[in-house]
Amino acid sequence: MQKGQIRVQTENIFPIIKKFLYSDHEIFLRELVSNAVDASQKLKTLSSIGEAKGELGELRIDVVLDAKEKTLSIIDRGVGMTGEEVDKYINQVAFSGAEEFMQKYKDANIIGHFGLGFYSAFMVSDKVEIFSKSHKEGSGVYWSCDGSPEFELYEVDYNQRGTKIVLHINEESKEFLEAGRIRGILERFCKFLPIPIYFSEAGE
Ligand code: ADP
Ligand code: MG
Repeated sequence: MQKGQIRVQTENIFPIIKKFLYSDHEIFLRELVSNAVDASQKLKTLSSIGEAKGELGELRIDVVLDAKEKTLSIIDRGVGMTGEEVDKYINQVAFSGAEEFMQKYKDANIIGHFGLGFYSAFMVSDKVEIFSKSHKEGSGVYWSCDGSPEFELYEVDYNQRGTKIVLHINEESKEFLEAGRIRGILERFCKFLPIPIYFSEAGE
């Protein structure tokens, strides 16, 4: 008899996530907005127990469409991530920081838990970029990945606390570069969220 651990090969699992994570591709927006909400709720929780650094300020989420550049960005003013946190939570597929936070702080206001939602971005994007600045000390960080299992991660000048996710929308997903389409999804999914979501178009 033989017993062992099933192994996963990233080169093979990535296209599966990209194509089949959800049959409905529009779900990516709900996942990314949920992460932005979680990041904001975490900051509130940490702040209420004196563990957050600095002022809370206005907690809001902006969804910005730039049809000319073919990008859609989701910007929050939540906890943000340090370079180590990006490496831990983003570079490890199916490792959920939300689950970890819930267990540590018994926080019931957190949405995520499978640690896969972020990768739904690749269903509609050629490339995904993250700019983030943690509420803790440290510089801003930049991460990018073009859908291969290779990523880039380095320090940058990003000085707004929180995270900006930039999706470079792929050819097959052009519908998500239409303002009406994005507005429709946001109205359906994001109506009852505890943090206000604002939609705008670049240059307006
Ligand atoms: P889940 O939300 O189920 O934990 P995701 O794949 O959606 O899984 O995200 C993985 C982890 O990446 C999150 O748990 C969180 O720690 C981190 N993360 C993702 N988006 C953000 C964000 N906007 N701000 C801060 N951390 C984030
Ligand atoms: Mg999530």
